[in-house]
Amino acid sequence: MPAATSRAVPPPNMSFTLHGLGVSGGIAIGRATLMSHATLEVAHLTISPRMVDKEVERLEKALSQVRDELKAVKGQAGNAPAELTAFIDLHVSFLSDPELSEMPKKIIRERRCNAEWALVQQMEHLVEQFEKFEDLYLRERKYDVVQVVERVVKELLGHPGRGGLRKGVTEELQIVVAHDLSPADTINFKEQRFASFVTDVGGATSHTAILARSMAIPAIVGLSNARALIRDQELLIVDGQRGVVIVNPDERVLEEYRLRKEQLEIERNKLKRLKTAKSQTLDGAEVSLLANIELPNDLAAVLESGANGIGLFRTEFLFLGRGDMPSEDEQFEAYRKVVKGMEGRPVIIRTFDLGGDKAIDQKRTQINPALGRRAIRLSLSEPKMFQKQLRAMLRASKYGNLKILIPMLAHAHEVEQTLNAIDHAKASLRAEQIKFNEAIEVGAMIEIPAAALAVNMFLRRLDFLSIGTNDLIQYSLAIDRMDEEVANLYDPLHPAILMLLAHVIVSAEKVHAPVSVCGEIAGDPEMTRLLLGMGLHRFSMHSSQILEIKSRVMKADINELAPQVRRMLRLDDPTKLREALEKLNAS
Ligand code: PEP
Ligand code: MG
Repeated sequence: MPAATSRAVPPPNMSFTLHGLGVSGGIAIGRATLMSHATLEVAHLTISPRMVDKEVERLEKALSQVRDELKAVKGQAGNAPAELTAFIDLHVSFLSDPELSEMPKKIIRERRCNAEWALVQQMEHLVEQFEKFEDLYLRERKYDVVQVVERVVKELLGHPGRGGLRKGVTEELQIVVAHDLSPADTINFKEQRFASFVTDVGGATSHTAILARSMAIPAIVGLSNARALIRDQELLIVDGQRGVVIVNPDERVLEEYRLRKEQLEIERNKLKRLKTAKSQTLDGAEVSLLANIELPNDLAAVLESGANGIGLFRTEFLFLGRGDMPSEDEQFEAYRKVVKGMEGRPVIIRTFDLGGDKAIDQKRTQINPALGRRAIRLSLSEPKMFQKQLRAMLRASKYGNLKILIPMLAHAHEVEQTLNAIDHAKASLRAEQIKFNEAIEVGAMIEIPAAALAVNMFLRRLDFLSIGTNDLIQYSLAIDRMDEEVANLYDPLHPAILMLLAHVIVSAEKVHAPVSVCGEIAGDPEMTRLLLGMGLHRFSMHSSQILEIKSRVMKADINELAPQVRRMLRLDDPTKLREALEKLNAS
């Protein structure tokens, strides 16, 4: 391998400000934790001196594990072409090369960092060296370095020793600075208590942004080159409301933000008094405020918020960030915990919405993943995996008020096939004499424009609806919710979106079918009065938003709002619509 040269230590930096898209409000003050290479985003953790030997040992173990794995792959390769086995040999030899087997250990010792990060630092250095070769063949070997390191990082991340690492992490608040974060990365960080996320790419309703909101931490996406400009451990202020990151703030600015942070906390504490208040409008309409969750551990925050139930459990997060699939029993335990914890209040569990940006296999590349085989399409094409989930949900249904929600429906035949799959799961449980709620309700997510327009097709077959405005807006306006370059076109107030929303709500009302909105607009206080005026009585959002939305509901009078909203719906001029919304919120 090319000879390693020592890397320059970044000089102390001046103060500067970066602007992006604030996707989760609040203020965080802390130190930057840089995430490495875009495809190999790993946390940079500072470990205590006594953990250093353990960390080196962990790396050694992972290297030898991957070496054995590769040898086994070669052993099983059978008649594979000679070039393939030659590459496996090359990868094995890389693993034994001191550049990968020794240098990262040196980095761990010198910088007191975690093995994953040390390895990725060394990988980036080697990639730079390979890029200098004139010879194309040698230059391209950088991909082999990346591949082999990726294998070791995966091994490290799945290693049980990882839990011990967190004990050594520095006490100061850490702010993640990354080029991009996949939902799987984010879910791995969920337990690590970072104070904030900032990323170069991503849109307001990217799943990373949603997760930041679910953790109630400030987050900013679309900063373009924060990852390149910010240095590790620099002091940062993240203002999630304004979408601003201040790097190396001076004492005056820092003081100002500390005060604002305190102020926000005072306001948040005031809202806490509403926890047990009834969610009711001034004219007496009861409005159900439900919570969106990703994992059973979110339950504590849901209970703390006083939510009336769970309106969306995104079960795909049980599948992400791990090397295997959760078994039926593991899923059952997760669903039972949530259902029992909610003590009879409704718990709407969505069948997995995998695919798109939430691919289990990150390498699976589709031409257009958001339009590809995701959500119910994937479930129906993987009947075994789907049966496991349905059986787990049905088994958990006897512990409370569980309802099943189906994502991304567009066709009547998808509903028929799903109902058949549910019947099949029920029959198998009956045969095993396992009890479940025979009358379990099944609902449709309305998040494809075709489903919104032809909503009666779903109302005839199913028990309830939940409008997924994040995807509904993405598909109606043809803007990728992950792409910050079109994030400015993402507009819940677009007349077409308002028409679709009103059509679905009114259609459901006509047949007395419950309908909720579970996309991000349900937790946006600016949208509360508009949605109430449209006739919406069920809102599902992250727990952190519930009390604020409740305060809006309690000040609203639907009798007054409804005629104003009806007039608004006749407008098709964006400026007039915006003005009308301001007026509605001020009334
Ligand atoms: C939506 O699309 O609005 C929704 C709630 O689902 P997700 O954000 O998980 O796609
Ligand atoms: Mg969706």
